[in-house]
Amino acid sequence: MTHHIAVLAGDYIGPEIMASALAVLQHAAAKYDFDYETTAYPFGGAAIDACGEPLPQATIDGAKAADAILLAAIGGPKWDAAPKRPEAGLLAIRQALQLYANIRPTKVSDAQIDASPIKPEIVAGTDFVIARELTSGAYFGKPRELAADHAIDTMYYSQAEVERIMNTGFQLAMQRKQHVTIVDKSNVLATSKFWRATAERIAKRFPKVSVDYRYIDATTMAIMTAPTAFDVIITANLFGDILSDEAAQITGSIGTIPSMSAGASGPNLYEPIHGSAPDIAGKGIANPIAMIKSVAMMAQYSFQANAMAQAIEAACDAVIAAGITTPDLGGSATNQDVTDAIIARI
Ligand code: ATP
Ligand code: MG
Repeated sequence: MTHHIAVLAGDYIGPEIMASALAVLQHAAAKYDFDYETTAYPFGGAAIDACGEPLPQATIDGAKAADAILLAAIGGPKWDAAPKRPEAGLLAIRQALQLYANIRPTKVSDAQIDASPIKPEIVAGTDFVIARELTSGAYFGKPRELAADHAIDTMYYSQAEVERIMNTGFQLAMQRKQHVTIVDKSNVLATSKFWRATAERIAKRFPKVSVDYRYIDATTMAIMTAPTAFDVIITANLFGDILSDEAAQITGSIGTIPSMSAGASGPNLYEPIHGSAPDIAGKGIANPIAMIKSVAMMAQYSFQANAMAQAIEAACDAVIAAGITTPDLGGSATNQDVTDAIIARI
């Protein structure tokens, strides 16, 4: 069966790292009999230049019809004064595809232990993902008000919204180490009590998965002091926003971290967590690993091509271990050097 992949290469370093990722995919696919085809669509600043819209209708249609979407990074100073910003395209595509869950891995391979700000004996073996609810909670709840003498935000969650992120998280755990940590503030917040009750119900459908319940404040500490305790963290939008950035820090480099956004009905979207890095675009020194690991995540979670996913991941780690790294990781290799070295190790 042919897997259809929509490719949104984006702006600045976007096309550079996407070219790397597609070269790695082509090589790995041949090795692992992975049948696929890619179609590129304009998106972000490039789409504004081409047709005046950050998210053209053809891109929405193509993305919706695909089995998975690869996105590099968009935006940058070129469009700072544009009437429509590239970032508006990001919000619009999240809405169009109903991307309700953002999944970020925090994995510290042996090669990256020294880059971590945490002591090696604590961080060694860290391998967890955060499943953050993305389309509801404190960032979207109504009423919202900012007055001179008071302000209101609302944290709202419906049953359906909590159930679907729980299901996504528990399913991820089934493909991983079968452990889930529900992170909330249920000693104080009503939404968190609701979140926890929903988790207890969903957990019955996944008897193989063990479940921990933790408070957000304790979890921010545990991520620094005992990060190997986690496999899948499931949490609300606000808490997940904070935890994701904290977790990214313990790996030591944003140039190596991929992410997945899960769609309610359609395809998942895979992208690096970093931005379009205008300061280094065109120099050939962008680290392609976050984009390449996004391809590995896609292989694992959208297509269950686990052997291929593991081969890509392992090749990335081996290349870092061999010291073939771009300047952000302290090396002097180019994007092309890193890409070639990864391909050679698959
Ligand atoms: P956002 O677009 O999410 O707002 P930002 O503009 O704050 O993010 P980035 O574009 O991610 O940030 O860049 C932050 C810094 O990290 C820059 O100095 C950039 O060059 C560097 N950087 C980001 N991605 C990479 C990469 N893949 N390789 C090397 N350096 C990178
Ligand atoms: Mg940016």
